[in-house]
Amino acid sequence: MDKVTLDRIELLHPQLRAEVSEIYDKVCKALTGRAICRFAYTLRTFKEQDDLYAQGRTRLFNSKGKRLGVVTNAKGGQSYHNYGLAVDIVLIIDGKVASWDFRQDFDKDKKSDWMEVVEIFKAYGWAWGGDWKFIDRPHLEKTFGLSTRELLARHNAKDFIPGTTYVRL
Ligand SMILES: [Zn+2]
Repeated sequence: MDKVTLDRIELLHPQLRAEVSEIYDKVCKALTGRAICRFAYTLRTFKEQDDLYAQGRTRLFNSKGKRLGVVTNAKGGQSYHNYGLAVDIVLIIDGKVASWDFRQDFDKDKKSDWMEVVEIFKAYGWAWGGDWKFIDRPHLEKTFGLSTRELLARHNAKDFIPGTTYVRL
């Protein structure tokens, strides 16, 4: 169990938290070798999404002068992350090194660790970005049949779960 991930699960849409806790429990039990799974991102605020969208477009260099590339095609409100309905995974090897290797079998059970995680999410009806035309392998989402356009309309109408800024599904 990874404390950072447990904290990030609490940022997901309230209707997903219990399910994702259960998923994460299974993930932790499935990976028995050098790799653990961390959720690199769950909720991303509209502001954070806009900042990300600006990278490589209107913001070309970071604070150290390094050239920034385009990292997303989604502006604030256009990503399922903005509604707490998506998770990006990364593997942490030996407790320290991040890995996006989706093929490696770190626990030697003849299945890639990355795909073990993906399969657990899929069993709960989540969609995986690795299956898409524009491949995004760290990304998993559960949309409840709603487009980001519909979610944005609810957000703009402040159709929120009372006391929160999570839209009603
Ligand atoms: Zn994502």
